[in-house]
Amino acid sequence: MALPHDGMSTDDVLAQLDAFKEHDVRWREGAAFTLAYSAGPEVEAVAQDAYRRFSSENALNTDAFPSLKRIQNDVVGIVGDWLEAGPDGAGFLTSGGTESLLLAVKGARERGRRERGITAPNVVLPTSAHAAFEKGCYYFGVESRRVAVRDDWRADVAAMEAAIDDQTVLVVGSAPQYPQGVIDPITDIAALAAARDINCHVDACMGGVTLTYLRRLGHDIPDWNFRVPGVTSISVDLHKYGYTAKGASVIMHRNKQLRAYQTFVTDNWLGGVYGSSGVLGTKSGGPWAAAWAVMHHLGDAGYLRLTASARRSCEQLATAVDEMPALALRAWPEATLVAFGAAEPAEGVAALDVYAVADALWRRGWYVDRQGPPASLHCTVNAVHEGRIDAFVSDLRSAVDEVQTAGTAGAQGAYGTVD
Ligand SMILES: *Cc1c(COP(=O)(O)O)cnc(C)c1O
Repeated sequence: MALPHDGMSTDDVLAQLDAFKEHDVRWREGAAFTLAYSAGPEVEAVAQDAYRRFSSENALNTDAFPSLKRIQNDVVGIVGDWLEAGPDGAGFLTSGGTESLLLAVKGARERGRRERGITAPNVVLPTSAHAAFEKGCYYFGVESRRVAVRDDWRADVAAMEAAIDDQTVLVVGSAPQYPQGVIDPITDIAALAAARDINCHVDACMGGVTLTYLRRLGHDIPDWNFRVPGVTSISVDLHKYGYTAKGASVIMHRNKQLRAYQTFVTDNWLGGVYGSSGVLGTKSGGPWAAAWAVMHHLGDAGYLRLTASARRSCEQLATAVDEMPALALRAWPEATLVAFGAAEPAEGVAALDVYAVADALWRRGWYVDRQGPPASLHCTVNAVHEGRIDAFVSDLRSAVDEVQTAGTAGAQGAYGTVD
């Protein structure tokens, strides 16, 4: 495909882009239970206006852009307050949860190498920990030691302990883990790290904002943040329950010494000293400005309100799924994630194919995650779903009926795609 010789008008290019979106999932209307989050059109407008002002500012070098230094300090400072990091806490903004987790792996590998001379590092993590850890291990030459979870889907700490050896540089827990939405026993996992003076990363990409505010709303949440001795770093995605534009996550370390292991500096080329805090080089100031703007626009009161709303919708959906005889809730949600599969079928009856249910939901306009093993559907419930759960549950019932009647099969699909 060649670029047309004559340029198009602004109106034409924008109309064309809007037309491309015709078949996209209608997430602003609450039709997506994954991938997109919305606190409504006004919050989105704040994010977009802020993003536009900083879209071509370059966060690679905050000396040239003191504005971005200020923005990063403020955003990381607020997240540090949420995480009870204390005055020594030190973090960076990253492009998303994946980059935050890559840096957690890289930082742990580097610390092991420099402090203990480790040459064949491994990470001990539950099978429920996010796929991005796998990517980090692959990128940075670290062995991934996956340990089966318990029957309640939480990390099996005794089995994790058995998998640790003298080359282990990192143990991982999630708050909550993505697949079934439950919180790992962070205190026990962090104790494994503290006893050996190795890193413990808590993946709160999904739950960092939600668990902070749920606790303030009076929910009983087990300890998961820097109050837990032994936790060395935590990731929190702002482009999820921070309700800001895509491209914003924070990785927070307990102190600057630990943070130093994630950064990279070289002068081994002809271009002088080159340092970078994360994976990217040039990076847009847009996501940073949008995060600052949305956080300050919502304020504490906004996050309390949005968290309460998301939790209400989540409980409504979990209750409805629990009452459907054809479906089995994987776990009662501890944050705002609902995962379910097919119930044990009666004797002589074929099991319900939940991926076919996902197909039938998509024909009705709803997009949910498909995951496994075991074959499950997964709903990330957020503030956009307020007032939408009844309609979804009604379509879920009809989708289940349709699949049961027709006996159709579906395909697993993918959480992320490569083509
Ligand atoms: C979303 C998520 C990630 C990955 O974050 P991206 O922003 O998609 O790169 C990692 N861990 C958990 C628990 C997540 O929910």
